Amino acid sequence: MTLVSPQHKHFLSDKVEHFTESVIREMTRQAMQHGAVNLAQGFPDFSALAEIKRAAQEAIAADVNQYAITWGAKSLRVAIARQMREWQGIDVDPEKEIVVCCGSTEAMIATLLAVCNKGDEVVVFEPFYENYGPDAILSGAKPRFVSLRPPQASKSEGGGEPGGEWTFDEQELREAFQHQTAQHHTKAIILNTPNNPTGKVFSRKELELIRDLCVEYNVLAITDEIYEHILYDGSEHISMARLDGMRERTITINGLSKSYSVTGWRVGWAVAPPAITNAIRKVHDFLTVGAPAPLQEAGAVALSLPASYYRELADRYRERRDHLIPALEKAGFVCYRPRGAYYVMTDISAFGFANDVEFAAYLVKEIGIACVPGSSFYKHPKDGSQQVRFAFCKKPETLDEAARRLEKLVRK
Ligand code: PLP
Repeated sequence: MTLVSPQHKHFLSDKVEHFTESVIREMTRQAMQHGAVNLAQGFPDFSALAEIKRAAQEAIAADVNQYAITWGAKSLRVAIARQMREWQGIDVDPEKEIVVCCGSTEAMIATLLAVCNKGDEVVVFEPFYENYGPDAILSGAKPRFVSLRPPQASKSEGGGEPGGEWTFDEQELREAFQHQTAQHHTKAIILNTPNNPTGKVFSRKELELIRDLCVEYNVLAITDEIYEHILYDGSEHISMARLDGMRERTITINGLSKSYSVTGWRVGWAVAPPAITNAIRKVHDFLTVGAPAPLQEAGAVALSLPASYYRELADRYRERRDHLIPALEKAGFVCYRPRGAYYVMTDISAFGFANDVEFAAYLVKEIGIACVPGSSFYKHPKDGSQQVRFAFCKKPETLDEAARRLEKLVRK
């Protein structure tokens, strides 16, 4: 951690005091430093599809090298609208309801900057993808966390219980929506389904409950659906915008990174009703002007891949999940079996470490595997102090190597 002198503090914004640098990205740096197998950050270590790489090369060769329209190349916006209709039955106007951004990361922060005022609260389920806290703070809002509780049954001997689901308490969620004072009121809920880090896929019943609260308290839903195609065990992804009453109050965020294994391309988008889209477009324009033009053209090609591509994507990730989990369980982790996305949250109590940060430091240095300390997904570090997350979006040989290294790990 860098120490800041009083003089330097004078130069810095108060906002940056309230969050730290990304722990996930820091673990990648540590993995490189120690030559560790990187199961920390969620990026694939295998090749992207030749067809879409070729499309990017061709776009550059064809001189698609200047700024695209600030809110996105038409070809990509049309492809996004077509995909939303085909997969979720949602009709979207590509001219008025889509903003293409530099990754879904920018789409999320541009959305929050466009809708939040000082004093607004944003409801976030925790454990949460670590960007949401800083995103809310940077946009002047205050995150209000609601717990997702791990499946208790899976903490039994023998590890993960396939039937176990992460759940939340309806009353706790209602109270988060109800928290309205003269200074504070709930502006939005951020929902991530399929979920990072838990692998939870929110059911229709849960989404309807959230829908009812959004309507009752006049709250927006900002839904990060970046893992929409990565589903296991028959789980179904339901877009919030598809539910009755939600189209007008939902901002759907998605991107190329995870569905097409191109996390470095930095292309994502927000889909929202026209007035909200206009506001997001303004913020986006002044934040970044536009996403990479040739990669947007390649994105349009990617979004036109046949349904079989997505089936194979999910199948391959299921195989990888089923490859890593037994190795983790054998080593002593309790695994919370994910239904979607490509992470597994684990309980590390068996190893007798004081906390997740000490454990992760030991694992990366002594065992040669990088994971993400669970505390980075919680407001209060102690809530994640006996959890760590592993990413399994890796080649089978990378997972084999991780399994070999895990054999050195000793239980308490
Ligand atoms: N949202 C979630 C839930 C993620 O897990 C990630 C990356 O890990 C992102 C967004 C970042 O997506 P992008 O690469 O489109 O910025």
